[in-house]
Amino acid sequence: MLDHIRDLYQEVVFDHNRNPRNFRVMEAPSRKIDGFNPLCGDRITLYLKLDGPVIADVSFQGSGCAISTASASLMTEIVRGKTEEEAHHLFELFHRITTGQDEVANFEELGKLAVLAGVRAYPARVKCATLAWHSLEAALNNEGEAVSTE
Ligand code: ZN
Repeated sequence: MLDHIRDLYQEVVFDHNRNPRNFRVMEAPSRKIDGFNPLCGDRITLYLKLDGPVIADVSFQGSGCAISTASASLMTEIVRGKTEEEAHHLFELFHRITTGQDEVANFEELGKLAVLAGVRAYPARVKCATLAWHSLEAALNNEGEAVSTE
């Protein structure tokens, strides 16, 4: 991994874990889902407010490792104001990047999220990084009230 990507990765994870964005309970959400990563013990409750196809608001609560918290925080920042379709597209991009199936070509589109690609150097942590995204996907697809990475 390039040194500057690794440095950015550590900086962004540290920052978003210490000071997670949109970390709050939402009143009257359109969707609410609990996500669990049994490998690490990460738990997240994700709240969405939809306005037609647009994600008008998104927030989360939970407890987990630094990577799961930072990834959830970054995700809420990037998908707010996006349509369900755009969010789905970002999920797929993020998934490909964190599992190493995609190279730097899409990094610009992902912005700050791309630094989490650093997680692919630690395969055991990929599920920590993708937990929030799997929860988002399940919430958008209205797949029930709980999702597990296993
Ligand atoms: Zn974790």
